[in-house]
Amino acid sequence: MVTSGCDAKTGRMKLRVKGVTFSYGSIPALNDVSIEVEASEVLGIVGPNGAGKSTLLRCINRILKPQRGAVLLDGADVSKMSMLEVARCMGYVPQNSPMVFPTTVFDVVLMGRRPHLSWRCSADDIKKVLEVLEALRIEGLAMRDFTELSGGQQQKVLIARALAQEPEVLLLDEPTSNLDVRHQLEVMELLKTLAAERGLVVVMAIHDLNLAARFADKIVMLNAGRIFAAGKPTDVLIPKNINKVYGVDAVVSKISGKPFILPLKPV
Ligand code: ADP
Ligand code: MG
Repeated sequence: MVTSGCDAKTGRMKLRVKGVTFSYGSIPALNDVSIEVEASEVLGIVGPNGAGKSTLLRCINRILKPQRGAVLLDGADVSKMSMLEVARCMGYVPQNSPMVFPTTVFDVVLMGRRPHLSWRCSADDIKKVLEVLEALRIEGLAMRDFTELSGGQQQKVLIARALAQEPEVLLLDEPTSNLDVRHQLEVMELLKTLAAERGLVVVMAIHDLNLAARFADKIVMLNAGRIFAAGKPTDVLIPKNINKVYGVDAVVSKISGKPFILPLKPV
């Protein structure tokens, strides 16, 4: 069982983004973005290319420093925490992670233990790595070279690395973009279970509106760096919003109470 590795040790954290504004030099990327996510919730961030999804995730985990606004973990400002403290609380799965040197999958996942290691890794660290490899059903890849894996396999290994970190908050940048349909569902089910059973806050940028509709508790729809709509999938993923933000005519129906989106044509 993977337990909390976060210093705060509350087990049930709340993530709050308050009025975050960020520009890359003169290029504005986020404008006055505010979100709130409770423990056990999965938040899906949707929006077209360039909307600011990746920038928002990078502002949350302190890779980028917002020019205005704040990111609070249970009320504590992450800009005042050390990178090590942030790493103990937040796991981040980038869209892709260029790994130049050949490294085994086991070692890549063990890197996730870095915020918890003293001068060497313990039997407990090794056990944790094995646990997450098994949870993601990739233990068979443990001794393979990461650089030689398929995009989908690499994506799962990066998720395993973030889980080995035992975060309270898990941030994922398009975690299913390289996965086939079966693996997409497996990863989404796993994220949902982690949120429900371990009280994690899960925030994922996601392109696939149907996966977002099915697995996210709340959706934030970004457009040109601003929140265009936020709320339950049924309230946000509606034809009018999809038309305005993506420039696409779509039919939205419902299956088991969840929106099912069929994009028809660009407008
Ligand atoms: P998304 O993830 O929704 O596709 P991004 O957060 O990557 O959007 O990008 C938001 C905006 O910031 C876009 O206009 C993009 O061109 C710009 N941007 C992203 N990364 C950089 C960067 N490293 N330098 C300059 N501009 C960037
Ligand atoms: Mg992105």
